[in-house]
Amino acid sequence: MNDPRIAADCIFCKIVRGEIPANKIYEDAEVIAFPDIRPQAPVHLLLIPKAHVANLYEAKPEHQSALGKMLGVAGRLAREAGAADGFRAIINNGRVGHQEVYHVHMHVLGGPDPLGPMLQRRK
Ligand code: AMP
Ligand code: ZN
Repeated sequence: MNDPRIAADCIFCKIVRGEIPANKIYEDAEVIAFPDIRPQAPVHLLLIPKAHVANLYEAKPEHQSALGKMLGVAGRLAREAGAADGFRAIINNGRVGHQEVYHVHMHVLGGPDPLGPMLQRRK
């Protein structure tokens, strides 16, 4: 099996199971958070549900609690990580969203200075 869309091969499921190391900065029964391995800003965290959900297309009612918690703890984790004056939360979905890891995750990006534009604006 070599398809990351399958939970057994999923890199974030492996982090949840402790098979791949990550510096967990937050954990509860439904959610974990850890720094992105390739940070795009001084603060770059990933918040994920412990349950394997490929992306928001695959979200079911039973995932709503974990997905809500990802939003609910983002501000506190951003502030604690050093982004106390604003941050951006991004969830990439599917090919058009440039999703690379098919286990839903929320990027929390920030730092001391304003971030670049969210998207290249059309002329
Ligand atoms: P996305 O394009 O939204 O799917 O982003 C996937 C993110 O996962 C990228 O920003 C990667 O740098 C990050 N990533 C991949 N593997 C790891 C890992 N083992 N630990 C932390 N972050 C990771
Ligand atoms: Zn997974």
